[in-house]
Amino acid sequence: MLLHCAHARYVWNLAVEQHAHWRRWRRPAPGFAVQCQQLTEARRANEWLGSGNADVQQQALKDFAKAKSARFTSGFGEPTWRKKYRHEGFRVIGTDRVAELAEDGSPKLNAKTGRQVMGRSVVVHQLNRRWAQVKVPGCGWVRFRLTRTALPAAKTFRVTLRNGRWHIAFAVVPAPVAAPGTGEVIGIDRGVKITAALSDGQKLNCPQLTVKERAQVRKHQRRAARAPKASERKTAAYAKVAQLKAREADRRKDWCEKTSTMLARTYRLVRFEKLNIKNMTRSAGGTTEQPGKQVRQKAGLNRAILAQGWGLLRQRTEHKAPGRVEDVPAPYTSLRCSACGWIDKNSRKSQAEFVCSLCGFTCNADTNAATNIAAGQGGIPRPRQSAGAGGTTPPKQRSSVREPQPTSVGIPLI
Ligand SMILES: [Zn+2]
Repeated sequence: MLLHCAHARYVWNLAVEQHAHWRRWRRPAPGFAVQCQQLTEARRANEWLGSGNADVQQQALKDFAKAKSARFTSGFGEPTWRKKYRHEGFRVIGTDRVAELAEDGSPKLNAKTGRQVMGRSVVVHQLNRRWAQVKVPGCGWVRFRLTRTALPAAKTFRVTLRNGRWHIAFAVVPAPVAAPGTGEVIGIDRGVKITAALSDGQKLNCPQLTVKERAQVRKHQRRAARAPKASERKTAAYAKVAQLKAREADRRKDWCEKTSTMLARTYRLVRFEKLNIKNMTRSAGGTTEQPGKQVRQKAGLNRAILAQGWGLLRQRTEHKAPGRVEDVPAPYTSLRCSACGWIDKNSRKSQAEFVCSLCGFTCNADTNAATNIAAGQGGIPRPRQSAGAGGTTPPKQRSSVREPQPTSVGIPLI
């Protein structure tokens, strides 16, 4: 399987290099079909490449073609180089020929010939409740742990190696989770102390590494730092750190999956505040001319934000409940009183406490913000910094208290 990884990486990198070359000459680069012909030639010329599995190598080209055509929408941009140890993986296409079905469940027919369209399918055998096996070309049957109750019905699967662990992923698009008939709307406030506060008062926390595990991370980091350069001890210590970090990422992913399924099942509409996580976690480093302030503290906050899995939670909820997830503009959702609509920064007494300075409404600050998000409130434009320049109120005189905002019906509450 390591050899499959090496072949797939080699072919992918050739494709990257080829496309970079053609871009330099501002000419259209060869597409998937031409590349497949070139691959056949290359396999004849290169003994090492020719000894590998042709399907695995061709699938690497297919992956590249997909990545290339999705470069504006995928969020990953141009396909880039794959590195040894870091990007180890390959795709296998199913060997079983099955009749393809159209969207309504009837057999799919070729429009020109009228003949049945045949597709590929992966053969998976279940061994017992927890284990199943799949055929990998050149390796025979390979056993894997089942993480779902149903066996996957996929056309292809991908095998990857990360942090010394092999993974298998079947390309299946699950059906969206059906909405409950209740019509309930939920608002979710994402924070660092509480990962997700719901407007119905629930507080959900994303599991992190335990105190003991964090101490282990520090221990291995310290050992790695003290070990001599390029020594076996250094590599081993860094591998330990990577393993622990992978465990944390696994826990976060698991939590996001479970929570997003719960949200999609329980609520008709899920509202998140609109966060630009990329901007929020930007480094405070600044430039050489203008070095930033409190760089270490900001780096710590960035780590804490990224450890919460905010982006993943929203993304997975959208996948499971398409069209039932909304974004609410974030400004003032944490300062607005959810009972009367008054916005005052003095209302927020502390990280956890919210007491309205107008009506005296008391609530947990995160729950209050989540209630605002559920109502779709907040999002009042920020007062402009240069209001004094041509405006009526100089910035000094402007009080922090703002007028109550109209509710969504358009009638002011006071
Ligand atoms: Zn109030």
